[in-house]
Amino acid sequence: MIEFLPILLYPELHYHWGLLYPLYFRKLPEIIADVPYRIDVSGESSIPIMLTIKDAHKYPIIIDFLDIHVISQLENKCIYKEKVPIEKFFDTKFTSKIFTIQHDSLGIEQKVEIKISIAAHKSNKKKQFIFQNDNLPGLHTRLLTYLSASPLRKKENWFAGEAHYHSYYTDDQVEFGGDIKGAVELARRMNIDWFFVTDHSYDLDDTEDNYLKNDPAFPKWEKLKKEVSLLQQKEKYPVFYGEELSCGNSEKKNVHFLIINNENFIPGYGDSAEKWFRNKPTHSIGDACTLANKNALKIGAHTFEKNNNPVNTLLLNRGTWHEQDVKENRITYLQIINKKDQKHIAHAKKKWTELLLKGYKIIAIAGNDAHGYFNCKREVHIPFVSLSSSRDQVFGQCKTYIKTDRKVLTPDNFFSEFRKNRIVMSDGIFGSFTLNGQDIGSTIEEKDSFNCAIEILSSQEFGMINSIVLRAGYYGKQTEDTELQYEPKDVFAFCKTISIGNKRQDYFRLEVTSDKNSFCFTNPIWIKKNESLTENFK
Ligand SMILES: [Zn+2]
Repeated sequence: MIEFLPILLYPELHYHWGLLYPLYFRKLPEIIADVPYRIDVSGESSIPIMLTIKDAHKYPIIIDFLDIHVISQLENKCIYKEKVPIEKFFDTKFTSKIFTIQHDSLGIEQKVEIKISIAAHKSNKKKQFIFQNDNLPGLHTRLLTYLSASPLRKKENWFAGEAHYHSYYTDDQVEFGGDIKGAVELARRMNIDWFFVTDHSYDLDDTEDNYLKNDPAFPKWEKLKKEVSLLQQKEKYPVFYGEELSCGNSEKKNVHFLIINNENFIPGYGDSAEKWFRNKPTHSIGDACTLANKNALKIGAHTFEKNNNPVNTLLLNRGTWHEQDVKENRITYLQIINKKDQKHIAHAKKKWTELLLKGYKIIAIAGNDAHGYFNCKREVHIPFVSLSSSRDQVFGQCKTYIKTDRKVLTPDNFFSEFRKNRIVMSDGIFGSFTLNGQDIGSTIEEKDSFNCAIEILSSQEFGMINSIVLRAGYYGKQTEDTELQYEPKDVFAFCKTISIGNKRQDYFRLEVTSDKNSFCFTNPIWIKKNESLTENFK
């Protein structure tokens, strides 16, 4: 049954079932070059390239060189090339290194393709292999990146982050994630100010060298915590450890729950596929809430993702989050956006507003479930016959912005700032608003009128602002009303202050889009009336 596993991360090429080798099985380690999908070249005119080599302990390799070409899509020609000598022997399970190419002409606003030829040979053989971008057969992955001449445009004291990232501690039959230290380095070049490492609970309970064996001392979890804590100290960067916990919803089906910064590991292996048809949830969502300490951040993961895969539903007993799960466990945070996909985002928004209209004060969050990818997703297809790539789940694409009262966001002040709930979801265009001077995420006193101040910022990269809608929610109604609407022309910035009459609205929230399909949804500002149905609104 293991052949039918679901497939999300960097594909693992070496898993095979008895003598049935999948078509893509090769006696080489996986060698993958990656580049962020956008790079801020305003401070440093360079391109970081991440080279990852996996399973070289089984298939040792010498990497000879990288031959890098940067092709401008605008001019349709190579604008820079460089041959980077490596000449290094790799024989460890996982190595990830960042190489940087530096050139002044990169520092302009443009989209480029990076072609990386990787030359390698086995230590005992002369034959040289040359791959472009990776050696995953059948995949012709193109590395496209936007070189941005300015940092992400946003208001001061707002910080963009990634809420759902899988590192190499996710490692099993079909998938593996990316490096953590390297992710910090790339995140900085992408203007991503913080991120959560959220590896699967069913991978974090394994022994270090066998993903089919568990170790009750949880050595992988202990290692992850240590690695992340050291990085926080050394880099002064808000990166946090967590687990994507598999636990049981109200129908006793496995759903995922992000538990961030909880010192003790909570086991969850209902959908691990490590044992045939033993797919009962380990703990319920309620148990998980009790087991997590008070300071841990608890976020329902990809809560409304449609589960179209019958394999996942049947064999892994996977389900989805329901209203009852939110209600019974007084859940406040839901990661509703899990990829840059219009259909998915529209569905997530619909399900979220249904809950808001019922009176739940849900703070919505965006993430990418990025499994080590910074440019495009490369994955195995069921049942193990092909690989494919797409660009909807890459690190830092669907961002969660948080506002702080500080100039800098640090590992020490992060959670207290996060819990103020001044949170916005966006892939690049930035929007925020206040009501009577109060921020997103707050609950304000009811007055005869509300002074509403809207501010929106975009850039050449994310396009001109073409739609601004302030929605008003009335509890018990089926849909939200449009309170304000603007369709500006040819602008990258918009600022407006306007008075709104009290019509007994229960909440307001802002939606913005651009002509390059960038989106921004703020969380609501609530008007004080009803009792709260979720934990963080007392
Ligand atoms: Zn995930």
